[in-house]
Amino acid sequence: MPTLTRRAFLLASFGGLMAGIPKRRATIQTINGPISAQQLGKSLVHEHFLVDFIGADKISFDRWNPAEVAELVLPYLSEAKKAGVKSIFDCTPAFLGRDMRLLQLLAKESGLQIITNTGYYGARENKFLPPWAFTETAAQLAQRWINEFEKGLDNTTVRPGFIKIGVDANEALSETHRKLVQAAALTHLATGLTIFSHTGPGHTAFEEIEILQAAGVKPDAFVWVHAQGEKDKNLHIRAAKQGAWVSLDGIGWGDFDNYADAIAGLKAAGLLQRVLISHDAGWYKPQESNNNFQGYTNIFKELFPRLKQKGFSEKDFDQLLVKNPATAMAIQVRKL
Ligand SMILES: [Zn+2]
Repeated sequence: MPTLTRRAFLLASFGGLMAGIPKRRATIQTINGPISAQQLGKSLVHEHFLVDFIGADKISFDRWNPAEVAELVLPYLSEAKKAGVKSIFDCTPAFLGRDMRLLQLLAKESGLQIITNTGYYGARENKFLPPWAFTETAAQLAQRWINEFEKGLDNTTVRPGFIKIGVDANEALSETHRKLVQAAALTHLATGLTIFSHTGPGHTAFEEIEILQAAGVKPDAFVWVHAQGEKDKNLHIRAAKQGAWVSLDGIGWGDFDNYADAIAGLKAAGLLQRVLISHDAGWYKPQESNNNFQGYTNIFKELFPRLKQKGFSEKDFDQLLVKNPATAMAIQVRKL
């Protein structure tokens, strides 16, 4: 490197540090290794390929054949690819059917970038929690998830790209569910992984944000999953103003006008840069008929035409499907 350029480079780096700009480039951890956030492209941040609702006590990897699942799922993935999708976040957690064999097969055959998760799903009254989730401390659970980030998932070298937890929508969080949120906070601080929490109503989301803040985590490390479960759209705006990500993510299952209204409201409030959208679609269910498998294109076929009528531009769509996922999912510690 010529001397002057090198000197300019060093000065620029120093200036960057002084201004608090992170020195490292933002990365995303796919199942096939890290990529830059710029390589993520058009992304669906909350989808499923397989979900097995049998429960943590009965689930096992021999309940399905990855090749058979892939045969059903791949045509839907190629439709999504035709719509321009480059990356899909698999939101199926451990003990609900998260399967590295399947994810690797789908990534290889589809050419899509797939990102998977660490963490435990406490919603549906703890049916999908392993026994140690009840007895261990938040720090012990976090250590398990940090180990998965550092060493790999399920005896593979595949690393997770985000944390996925789930809590029930009761009046207040149970002790166990508070613990899951605390474990997610500790894992975030150690790894920089973004926290997705299956939530629903606003009061639960705000309770989680408070726990995270008490643990020193900024709200922008938190994704309020299934925010469409909250009918008071003012609460979406309140959470976004606090810096949290508002995930309107059930677009695979209808109610398109309501989604369009919620997203337009957030845009009108100047908060489109805090919104994530996805389908929550898929759901191959082991040992069932699978006639109602849902594809990944309603955003393009149903939602965007409605948003266009409300004045949304290509730039806005790019914000929702490219820029926001790249910002939300970049691995970076967001400490208060
Ligand atoms: Zn989901």
